[in-house]
Amino acid sequence: MQNWQQLDQTYIMSTVTRYPIAISKAEGNYLFDTEGNRYLDLFTGLAVNTLGHSHPRILAALEEQGHRFLHISNLFLNPPAIRLAERLVQHTFGHGKVYFCNSGAEATEAAIKLIHKWIARERHGRQGIVVLKNSFHGRTLGAMRLTRQPGVYQDFPQPDFPIYEVGPNQVEALVETCRTHQPAAILVEPILGAGGVVTLKPTFLEAIDRLCKEERMLFLIDEIQTGIGRTGKLFAYQHFSLSPDVILFAKGIGGGLPLGGLIAGPDTADLFQPGDHGTTFAPSPLSAALGNAVLDVLLDEGMLEHGRQMADHLWSELHRLLQNYPQVFQGLDGRGMMLGIRTHLPAEQVSRLQRDLLTEGILVNVTAKTVIRLLPPLTLTREEIAFFIETLERLVVQTQTA
Ligand SMILES: *Cc1c(COP(=O)(O)O)cnc(C)c1O
Repeated sequence: MQNWQQLDQTYIMSTVTRYPIAISKAEGNYLFDTEGNRYLDLFTGLAVNTLGHSHPRILAALEEQGHRFLHISNLFLNPPAIRLAERLVQHTFGHGKVYFCNSGAEATEAAIKLIHKWIARERHGRQGIVVLKNSFHGRTLGAMRLTRQPGVYQDFPQPDFPIYEVGPNQVEALVETCRTHQPAAILVEPILGAGGVVTLKPTFLEAIDRLCKEERMLFLIDEIQTGIGRTGKLFAYQHFSLSPDVILFAKGIGGGLPLGGLIAGPDTADLFQPGDHGTTFAPSPLSAALGNAVLDVLLDEGMLEHGRQMADHLWSELHRLLQNYPQVFQGLDGRGMMLGIRTHLPAEQVSRLQRDLLTEGILVNVTAKTVIRLLPPLTLTREEIAFFIETLERLVVQTQTA
């Protein structure tokens, strides 16, 4: 048998610490490894496999579009992508336009460029972007900095455009920063994902919204992890009465294939003109066809509602468990199918708990060292929730008596 772990370490750059399991198959809410073990997938490839694995609707779209065409470049009219863009706009701003790319980081790159197009148009002297402490918006450096063609970079930031950092939910600090520095835009995740599953308070989000209107700043919302039904609405901001200017999406939209982008409201929809931005692969017709299948299942087949019901059940079961073990658990954060279970345990014990869960056939993630992060599929069932809760409880009891 192949030693996948050793081969991986030999040939793939080690940019992450991987679970020592090699996947041979995934079906429904389960992953199967090459040894024949089965894992309940409460991580969904980092909030990507929203409908679980091998969903029949996704497989049908994959086959159908696969027979039509896989790639045509962005020089042609691309019906699956046009249809997807129309649906994204209709379910958000009503009027606006989509820019498609291949990933979350690329969506952020596009957002940075869009903000600078807006700065160039508005000429109001505002500069820089406000982001939150511990935020996560992607890992690229800005490939544009290396492209030395004035037509490509003239309207865009050179390396050191200002970034201002404010603590999540710190309204006063936010107001102070905006009044003092006159930034051009604010970009936030409604729930900080990689930052430890920290939910922004409605009052904070409303303060951002208000401030952006008052000061004439752009309000950009990063829904890359929280979007596509994860919190019970298509996008998490829709739980509140907010009017962002731009929405960033990726992860779940491609149904497992790479796809990301921006949805821009009416005021920013026409900032990009031919030549301002682009990429060879996006919008991938195949990813877009899968995106349409994802929206079919979420919006037309009631999966959003099923996900909400299962999430409510999971939350109430977890609340009950957490109450019984206050010495182990601190609390629960997040919304819908995006949960952070805060523990009092030291980081090693949380890693051990994660490993033990894996041995029991349950895949969870740990973020910010001591937070167990769950990103379950919306297709989760009551039986699977019961299995997870029972197993977690048994392991917690063991930690207590060890
Ligand atoms: C994952 C993520 C990104 C980056 O997406 P990639 O596809 O990994 O580049 C950006 N923002 C948020 C909130 C994310 O969760």
